[in-house]
Amino acid sequence: MNEKTTQTVKNLLNSPQKIVIIGHKNPDGDAIGSSLGLSFFLKNLGHDAIVIMPNDFPDFLKWLPGVDYVVVHEKEIEKSTKHIEDADVIFTLDFNSLDRAGDLQSILEKCKAKFVMIDHHQQPADYAVATYSDVSMSSTCEMVFHFIDALGHSENLTKEIAINLYTGIMTDTGSFRYPSTTPTTHRVTAKLIEAGAESAMIHQQVYDTNSMDRMKLLGHALNNLHVLDEYNTAYITLTQKDLDEHNFKKGDTEGFVNYALSIKGIVFAVIFIENKQENIVKMSLRSKGNFSVNDVAREHYSGGGHINAAGGKSSQSLNETVTEFISILPRYKNELTHAS
Ligand code: 5GP
Ligand code: MN
Repeated sequence: MNEKTTQTVKNLLNSPQKIVIIGHKNPDGDAIGSSLGLSFFLKNLGHDAIVIMPNDFPDFLKWLPGVDYVVVHEKEIEKSTKHIEDADVIFTLDFNSLDRAGDLQSILEKCKAKFVMIDHHQQPADYAVATYSDVSMSSTCEMVFHFIDALGHSENLTKEIAINLYTGIMTDTGSFRYPSTTPTTHRVTAKLIEAGAESAMIHQQVYDTNSMDRMKLLGHALNNLHVLDEYNTAYITLTQKDLDEHNFKKGDTEGFVNYALSIKGIVFAVIFIENKQENIVKMSLRSKGNFSVNDVAREHYSGGGHINAAGGKSSQSLNETVTEFISILPRYKNELTHAS
């Protein structure tokens, strides 16, 4: 975090503040971990800090320290709205454009609070008085560590902070294997382990708590895996019926797209998931090397993210979405076949 941003944040926090911390819609390990980790830090400094998420999050995160205090907007609209209206300072974590906050967007646009952004996604919007944006970072959790360090407190990490930040770094780096994982990521992680984040326990809580339904749904998804050799591309489809038949719960499809990307020679992978409630097809896009799925998601699917991991949606039917997807691939053929 640069000097100017650090100074702005220090000025904002030099007396006790009412603080609200918000993560993106469909929060993942990084959004929840960074928000909870930061909330413990700010509370320890004497602030009143509350975590609000636009909607619910997966069970595999529901053991994290502090998780019982998270206010889920879609379940407690009045409570979360009041907290936001009363807030002096709002931290937005793991997103960089207010349209990523789901139904919270309009409430955030109207409130009086000053915003601080901490985020690692491409192309940040300009709504915060302090913007700590770094697309080279592994995760927002790693950035929260650097944020705490910049404020001079990295030696005072509590176990609650450490567990939360470790979890988000672990999930956003695919357990330290994506190229965004740097030597600094490992140094930060080592400090978190020293502060009480038990690596094996956290891996087990997140990755070894599958339901049988989820495993069967994965089997089904793998049956629906298609490879387009000509474009080094693979995709998976799941219909609403597939989800219903496997008692789908939030988070059950997390990581499925990585199986498509794990095929030898594949550089671009997508999972299309039908969502009849919202009348959309939700897509997760992944790539290897320099093929930018952020660009594809922005251009065709009202989405975005990172170079190698992005999300988006389509309002067409599942079949139409897939047909259209296949039809745009020739435009990327050169990049897909020469990706490095
Ligand atoms: P996932 O595919 O796991 O939902 O998301 C992959 C990455 O893309 C995450 O960093 C996530 O924050 C981002 N992302 C997912 N969906 C959207 C979207 O609809 N719009 C934007 N801008 N980013 C998204
Ligand atoms: Mn993230």
